[in-house]
Amino acid sequence: MITETPDAAEQTAAPARFDTLALAPKLLQAIQDAGYETMTPIQAKAIPVVLAGRDVMGAAQTGTGKTAAFSLPLLQKMLAHENASASPARHPVRALVLAPTRELADQVANNVKTYARHSQLRVACVFGGIDMAPQTAQLKRGVEVLIATPGRLLDHIQAKNCQLNQVEYVVLDEADRMLDIGFLPDLQRILAFLPKKRQTLLFSATFSPEIKRLAQSYLQDPLLVEVARPNATASTVEQRFYSVSEDDKRAAVRQILRERSLAQAIVFVNSKLGAARLARSFERDGLNTAALHGDKSQDERLKALDAFKRGEVDLLVATDVAARGLDIADLPAVFNFDIPFNAEDYVHRIGRTGRAGASGLAVSLVTRDDSRLVGDIEKLIRRKIDLEPLELDDERPRRRRMEESGSGAPPRSERPPAREPREYRDAREPRRSPAATARDPFFDRPYEADPNATPVWERAEAAPAAPTRSTLSRFIKPRRKVAALLGGKTTG
Ligand code: AMP
Repeated sequence: MITETPDAAEQTAAPARFDTLALAPKLLQAIQDAGYETMTPIQAKAIPVVLAGRDVMGAAQTGTGKTAAFSLPLLQKMLAHENASASPARHPVRALVLAPTRELADQVANNVKTYARHSQLRVACVFGGIDMAPQTAQLKRGVEVLIATPGRLLDHIQAKNCQLNQVEYVVLDEADRMLDIGFLPDLQRILAFLPKKRQTLLFSATFSPEIKRLAQSYLQDPLLVEVARPNATASTVEQRFYSVSEDDKRAAVRQILRERSLAQAIVFVNSKLGAARLARSFERDGLNTAALHGDKSQDERLKALDAFKRGEVDLLVATDVAARGLDIADLPAVFNFDIPFNAEDYVHRIGRTGRAGASGLAVSLVTRDDSRLVGDIEKLIRRKIDLEPLELDDERPRRRRMEESGSGAPPRSERPPAREPREYRDAREPRRSPAATARDPFFDRPYEADPNATPVWERAEAAPAAPTRSTLSRFIKPRRKVAALLGGKTTG
């Protein structure tokens, strides 16, 4: 059975401070070093519950501070075993965090390392696509907190590089995406290696029947901890939908960047091919651009991401899988260059901006072919979407613009098919295939709704939008004549 925690607003009038929690000074110091002043709502709700030892089903979007929400209390519990011994036997894996993608695993690991920095607890991260040897060496030295993608973890388990028989805490992070990617059989195999007596936390942006069944299979009497409708978009994100033609999309992005004085943005597309091509086109336009998609090596992806985080790249053109879970502080805007095929991806995409309370802008470029997809988004976010016209600030005759090789969309013959298959299989480890999906009889049973599991968000309303911040990129030159975006602000 799933029970709900009381609403955060009822619990605390003002945002709660971390020092009101039973956390050790070395953790509080790390939190202070990270510059966190007060807890985010998911932290205020989840940390006491995890400290109390309950299983948790956390409904929280990425960007809400959920990593600290689960890792701080787990680190607190593990401090009891902290030791300076060099012996690997004194550093068994006690907490296992499973994440769907390499990028998310890396990001979670970096956060956990930050929180554990004043302790002697060891944190390691293993994911596929790179050499196993350094990971093996680290595992053999002993680590208390292991963050892993499922496929690579199974490889290490098979190679006997790590023992999981002392795991006390398990976190399934972004569980919805792990199921989307097809990791259920891998998760089942991994969970079978773990001691039955353990504390399990499951975080997911959405709670489909499959996720609820997963929770019912592997969590014991979990407490539902939620802070916002998981299918709702962050309230701090201003969402705009512009009606444009395919050929005008690039000019639209450039114009909005300029008019909103946006320094950086992620531009989402639906296909790998589209990402590579669009990145090249933006480069030709003079924007420093990197592409992030499944055909890039792990090393290239991390380098592109680092360059973007350092501000050396203006635009990151990304597919959904590659960008999944990315945490980039202060990202002012995301563009949906292509409207996602799956409405939930819309929520994930725009969750890249407006994080941890900051404001953000999400612009969707909608063509006539996209009406069904926009309708799906409308249903999911339960908000009427108004399509706005976009007057392009380009004095050149339209035909000339289209004829120019560098400025319009590629000729139809060069364009990717309208419906390329989703890219998510790239995130799998190499040896897994769709055909390999095993069946769990539990999941074949019809789902029975549990009235107690009805989440609070289903009654909540989306909150109003907020304005964006602005800094002018050195690569984006302001132009004299600027057309006003309907309803938007103009900056000369
Ligand atoms: P997450 O949802 O865990 O990916 O976290 C999103 C971002 O919020 C990360 O950059 C964290 O460093 C940041 N963050 C987490 N907790 C807090 C907090 N209490 N105050 C300020 N920033 C936070």
